[in-house]
Amino acid sequence: MPDKKPEWVPLDGGDEFASRVMRGVMGGQSAAPAHITPKRRQLSVDDYVEGVLNRDRAILARAITLIESNAPAHFDVAQEVLKRLLPHTGNAIRVGITGVPGAGKSTLIESLGMHLINQGKQIAVLAVDPSSSVTHGSILGDKTRMEHLSRESDAFIRPSPTSGMLGGVARKTRETMLICEAAGFDVILIETVGTGQSEIRVRSMVDFFLLVLITGAGDELQGIKKGVVEISDAILINKADGDNKIRANAARAEYNRALHYLTSITEGWQTHAYTGSGLTGEGIPEIWQVVESFQQNTQQSGVFAARRQQQNREWLHTLVEEQLRAFFFNHPAVKNVLPEIEAAVMNGTLPATSAARDLLRVVQDE
Ligand code: GDP
Repeated sequence: MPDKKPEWVPLDGGDEFASRVMRGVMGGQSAAPAHITPKRRQLSVDDYVEGVLNRDRAILARAITLIESNAPAHFDVAQEVLKRLLPHTGNAIRVGITGVPGAGKSTLIESLGMHLINQGKQIAVLAVDPSSSVTHGSILGDKTRMEHLSRESDAFIRPSPTSGMLGGVARKTRETMLICEAAGFDVILIETVGTGQSEIRVRSMVDFFLLVLITGAGDELQGIKKGVVEISDAILINKADGDNKIRANAARAEYNRALHYLTSITEGWQTHAYTGSGLTGEGIPEIWQVVESFQQNTQQSGVFAARRQQQNREWLHTLVEEQLRAFFFNHPAVKNVLPEIEAAVMNGTLPATSAARDLLRVVQDE
């Protein structure tokens, strides 16, 4: 049997999937034992909306599964649910967290999450995992991570959607974030690992973006070369414990010098580097203070609200572009002539520019 995940999760299967995830990731919080697949009634839009607003965890998980479904039949219901929940969204702080595998993200999120819960906050952790679209495997989602956090009733952890294009995964994460906000979570942490693309997607849906780095990768300014530093609001040099503390402090100083010459991604905010340890918890409350001071600062200046508005607009444009592309390439007339035109372009007998114009005319003339 090839280890291939399904392209989409059907609603019933999805519920089973969701309850498996809940059992695996949320420790003892599931309602049903593993061997029983409860026959559940179909939920109406009202059921979903009411359930999410009451933070009924089972319905919350089903609402997210509905959003994640690629089945056309689920799309309208999902969008209606989302529309009804929209007035209840927007009250959480949205934080993106990125770093290479092994940087210590899940340990950090566990530590930060527990700190926040102790402050009386309710947190949701979502993942955007770009690997799933390419390898059908997952860097972030497959192992049971954040074991302590997953046992907390004030935490909700949702792994990455099983598969799909990065754009689709990002859309689902964005809509899942809104559902979690409607359910009253105060802090949404969106974790990602990737090669630029997924970081940019996550940046476009969060208020604050945290880059987690480690020392000893040989090149201390690796992040700058990858372009991730430029989109970050703070850099955490992680694993600053034991013998590594001295190196971490040196890396922090080096980053702070370099950051001085970079333009910050957020108007009126200077990005700085900090040290901390997800393992010992040192520096973690301080990093959260940075997030809080960022929130206060940007809310006062209006940058916070302006960014969210801008993000909504960009989101609309992205969706239109995605749908236009799908509409175009699925159009029967385009499908008809595409192989021939592609061959001509590949052979060098037709310039790509004329070919693109010809193809667009095929749709315009319909
Ligand atoms: P992720 O892949 O970025 O989520 O990284 P993990 O949180 O799974 O951590 C990868 C490895 O680094 C594990 O073996 C952790 O125990 C270790 N680790 C994580 N955080 C720290 C830290 O703050 N200090 C030290 N010394 N090790 C850590």
